[in-house]
Amino acid sequence: DAARRGYPAQAIVDLAALKGNMQHIVEVCGGAKSSTAVMGVVKADAYGHGLIPAALAALAGGATWLGTAQPREALLLRKAGIGPDRCHVLTWMYSGIEAPFEELIANDIDISVGSLAGIDALAKAARTVGTPARVHVKVDTGFGRNGFTPQIFDQALALLKRYSSEGCLHVVAQWSHLAVADMPKVPAFVASTEAQIDTFNDFTRRMERAGLAPEIRHLANTAATLSRPEIHFELVRPGIALYGYEPDPSMGTPKDFGLKPAMTLQAQLSTVKDLEEGHSISYGKTYLTESETSSAILPIGYADGVHRSASGFDREGSMHATHLGGPVCIMTNDGPKIVRVSGRVCMDQCVLDLRGKAADLNVHEGDTVTVFGPGRGVRFNEPTADDWAQSADTISYEIFTCLRSRIPRLYL
Ligand code: PLP
Repeated sequence: DAARRGYPAQAIVDLAALKGNMQHIVEVCGGAKSSTAVMGVVKADAYGHGLIPAALAALAGGATWLGTAQPREALLLRKAGIGPDRCHVLTWMYSGIEAPFEELIANDIDISVGSLAGIDALAKAARTVGTPARVHVKVDTGFGRNGFTPQIFDQALALLKRYSSEGCLHVVAQWSHLAVADMPKVPAFVASTEAQIDTFNDFTRRMERAGLAPEIRHLANTAATLSRPEIHFELVRPGIALYGYEPDPSMGTPKDFGLKPAMTLQAQLSTVKDLEEGHSISYGKTYLTESETSSAILPIGYADGVHRSASGFDREGSMHATHLGGPVCIMTNDGPKIVRVSGRVCMDQCVLDLRGKAADLNVHEGDTVTVFGPGRGVRFNEPTADDWAQSADTISYEIFTCLRSRIPRLYL
């Protein structure tokens, strides 16, 4: 209670759900004794769920690796006491000039390389520390982001070989990332994923021929972990599944995959008042009440990470296109009811048209409402992050990671 006093909204994170999701993923990959290990991807403050609590829950669920984008996140894991005896940590997103390679090597953190300059910088740092750097060689199999292209791979292999024989580098793994594995129902995308897998295997053969056969290969994100066991290899890298969501609603619901969403975002309503028909709501006058109604303030806005694109314009005949605002579940006399953001999302608040009189509905200032949670979707009066993603024209990943520090994370 003390943590939430003064903040009108809270993100409640169910750590048992997080641990359960990881246990489920480990089972999907053949159980604790399988030759496939599982990395919990905890970058971006564990997709907004809180880096350290989420990392500990992932480890309790059976993950033996943790993955972060930025080096600082990887170092925070080690600083929190998650040592190399407990798990491997991989970091993959840095600028070669700025990267704290020496600190990473000294803390037993595995590092991805995908450029010739990166190999040189890493070898130099390893020489200074006096310990070989553990390297994951990133290959570009068609994602077009980072990683070696086939054209420069011979040069990369020559450098890796040289530094390995000098004892500066230890090539641990070969890895890549998939672009469209979350669209298994689109034939062109299935073909594209298969082409990426073929290219990945070509890279492996080239490493083997160079005498740098990788001990570990990893390619699978959540989508491939859940749907393509043939590419689990020695390690998989699920992120969104750990937090209880499928990558794309077209794949099914979290429940279909045995997952439980871990985060519930709730808020306490501010001003509740009656409005006449035709009352305009929020900036830009994009929403007019259709009849007598009551409104309530949802006390979070875009400064808290609520997407402005989740604004709602839905008056017929309005000069603005109809657009369904983000859904919120309120408890009324008649049970749970979905009401939506009406008019523009503001910096610190949104307006909800209750579509009924607050007195009749028994809705009051201070009532706690659910913005999204582990439910079954708006059809069941249980809004989810996928529902918000639909209103905001984005993906659940962005809904979670945008939630700012003004929304305290509370742990169950
Ligand atoms: N691997 C890499 C390199 C990533 O960037 C990400 C996330 O974007 C993941 C794995 C996890 O992806 P997902 O959350 O879809 O499982």
